Amino acid sequence: MLPGKTGRCGVRGNREGRPWLPRYGYISTLGLDPIEKKPLYHFRPGSTILSLGFVGCNMHCPFCQNWSISQDTVADAGRFIPADGVVATAMQVRDWQVAYTYSEPLVHVEYLLDCMRAVHREEMANVLVTNGCVEAEAALEVLALTDAVNVDLKCFSEKTYAEVLGGSLGRVKGFIAAAYGLGVHVEVTTLVVPGLNDSESELAAAADFLAALSEEAGPRKARPQGALESIPWHLSAYHPDYRWEAPPTDPAMLRAAAERARKTLRYVYTGNTEPDDGFNDTPCPHCGAVLVRRRGYRVDTGGMTREGYAWRCRRCGGEAPFRG
Ligand code: SF4
Repeated sequence: MLPGKTGRCGVRGNREGRPWLPRYGYISTLGLDPIEKKPLYHFRPGSTILSLGFVGCNMHCPFCQNWSISQDTVADAGRFIPADGVVATAMQVRDWQVAYTYSEPLVHVEYLLDCMRAVHREEMANVLVTNGCVEAEAALEVLALTDAVNVDLKCFSEKTYAEVLGGSLGRVKGFIAAAYGLGVHVEVTTLVVPGLNDSESELAAAADFLAALSEEAGPRKARPQGALESIPWHLSAYHPDYRWEAPPTDPAMLRAAAERARKTLRYVYTGNTEPDDGFNDTPCPHCGAVLVRRRGYRVDTGGMTREGYAWRCRRCGGEAPFRG
């Protein structure tokens, strides 16, 4: 990066030959969200989470639904909140988990690490929502402090990543594999954009990749759910936004894609679509009873009992695939 310039993300620069972080600690959005909105369906179901947003992103998806904060870094960057202030805010609202979300948190890695350390000092949880497009070294540093992550797997084509989105499929796959291998709770989201990433073959390749990770890892003792482990995959409906004008995702097509993916992965959900489409509940992997019923952000965990950090099916007593 040349002196006086900022990078593509717009939030990191070079001032007189030294790294310059003009947006360090600036929060564009602060709110309390249902954790299902991240989306995370298998981590602390039914809870709320303090959610921080930034400005800037290292990718430039032409259909970005948060483009006003991800692409317009000259606009109001929000207000400065130091890492300890984030923890104090979480305590004030009695919320024991913090999400870094809305735009891309990894372009603010220095602040992110400061917040994550402060959050862990108070024994709260860190949740990262990211495009996963980051060098392996930085990924490992952040993942060591991450309890749960939702990674956008935007498509399964290196060409689309490079030519349309400004990212790298290989890097994102590496990030997902690293997170999963480290025992971080991982869920994955794909925004299904007509004509861009919605072919049966591309979606099948993505499902195979996620399934292979679970199989390779096998039942890991470090994981509370051991053999029940299967990465949850959220297939989300796109609507026209920013610079992309293709018609919205057909809900019937989305349901069909989720149905097909369920032959490969145990937990596949639809998002941004009708809450009653039958693809948002979680069944027990042992007896099929509904463990969690979701209608929009109304979440009923009545199908389970809880013992400490472990969840069990109320009907058969089997271990339920949830963490936290
Ligand atoms: S990676 Fe996410 S935040 Fe960044 S441009 Fe793409 S959709 Fe927007």
